[in-house]
Amino acid sequence: MNNIFSDTKEAFSLKTDFELKRAYVLFKIIGNSTFVKLTTSLTKFALKFHFPVTPIIKLSVFDHFCGGVSEEDCVPVINKMFNKNVHSVLDFSTEGFDSEKEFDDCLRKKISIIEFVKNKKEIPFAVFKPTCLGRTDLFKKVSKHEKLNDSEKALWDKVINRFDLVCSKAFKENIKILIDAEEVEVQNAIDDLAIKMMRKYNVDTPIVYNTVQMYRKDRLVYLDEMISNKSNNDVIFGLKLVRGAYMEKERNLASSMNIESPICESKQDTDNNFNSGLDFVFKNLKRISFVCASHNEDSILKVMEMMKTYKLNTNDNNIWFGQLYGMSDNISFNLASNNYNTFKILPFGSVKNLMPYLIRRAEENTSVQGQTGRELQLIIKERKRRSLL
Ligand SMILES: Cc1cc2nc3c(=O)[nH]c(=O)nc-3n(C[C@H](O)[C@H](O)[C@H](O)COP(=O)(O)OP(=O)(O)OC[C@H]3O[C@@H](n4cnc5c(N)ncnc54)[C@H](O)[C@@H]3O)c2cc1C
Repeated sequence: MNNIFSDTKEAFSLKTDFELKRAYVLFKIIGNSTFVKLTTSLTKFALKFHFPVTPIIKLSVFDHFCGGVSEEDCVPVINKMFNKNVHSVLDFSTEGFDSEKEFDDCLRKKISIIEFVKNKKEIPFAVFKPTCLGRTDLFKKVSKHEKLNDSEKALWDKVINRFDLVCSKAFKENIKILIDAEEVEVQNAIDDLAIKMMRKYNVDTPIVYNTVQMYRKDRLVYLDEMISNKSNNDVIFGLKLVRGAYMEKERNLASSMNIESPICESKQDTDNNFNSGLDFVFKNLKRISFVCASHNEDSILKVMEMMKTYKLNTNDNNIWFGQLYGMSDNISFNLASNNYNTFKILPFGSVKNLMPYLIRRAEENTSVQGQTGRELQLIIKERKRRSLL
């Protein structure tokens, strides 16, 4: 279907011929699930036993999906994208942290990133993953409203304090802060902390944004309750809508516990839920600042259509679109060239720390056939346009 996202000249305007070829080879390989499984295992093995594979990973998949090892490394990419009106959101990789020292290090890192991005109009948001600030088992207990013992309570107070330190820094520097959504088992605790932060910091302007995963069957009820709760009367809600990244894990967990899966039964149900989420957002736009985080063209087109219906400017302050760096450039760059507020999540960190993220990207692009196919078709179209094929 031809639409605003079909313009590959605009979509890949920052990619050199070499980078386009690399993207072609990458998505071709990623499309092969057996190969992905094999290379994933081999890479994990090679990294564990310190085989010198880092330069190969760096030149291939890392450079395609990540901005660099440090904030400074990312600056050329940030500037190039901003020349095309695409903003960046720096995402420092923090997976697998599980000690109090690591949580404190992570807190310091998140605060230093806010310090780095303050006053940079090309980086309007910061982001963090909640379980990088505290033990996952505590998030689970709090989510289930289980009683904590004294030492757990002391540790949970530290988590609340770390949340507050990140959000208050964001508030002080006037940087919007995105809180990622995670697995259902930990999400109640995250939602409660996010609302607590919104009550404190989202009074005059939206600073704190919580993420709502619309692949969950219960999220429309959650949204309704959130907005009708009288304690939230003075809150300007920051909401990032996504479909959700942990479908298989959630389904496996539910099946192992012999309980109903919290995830919609079909892709169509998730899409319908996502659309209802969009309807909810626009109906309540006076109280919501919104990020549509998706690579789904239909969802983006629906938001654009609704913005028209509600007579909003394309660059309305309260509507943002977000995609991941290295994916769906046809959406990001064409949105930005039409003056919609658009950002790319730009992960950075060491190759070793980013491996889980890169493996997820490979697996996601393997399992979501449509996505890989679409990326490849667009790359091929652009290579033909440049007479490279
Ligand atoms: C900027 C950005 C930030 C993100 N932040 C988060 C985050 O904080 N937390 C998080 O969990 N995810 C996050 N994601 C990932 C997101 O949740 C999706 O996994 C991803 O974007 C793919 O969904 P889509 O809307 O782009 O499009 P699509 O490709 O149309 O949808 C794929 C998604 O549909 C759902 N789905 C697929 N098959 C089925 C099925 N059979 N039954 C039910 N549902 C199905 C799954 O959620 C799957 O990921 C983020 C994505 C972006 C772009």
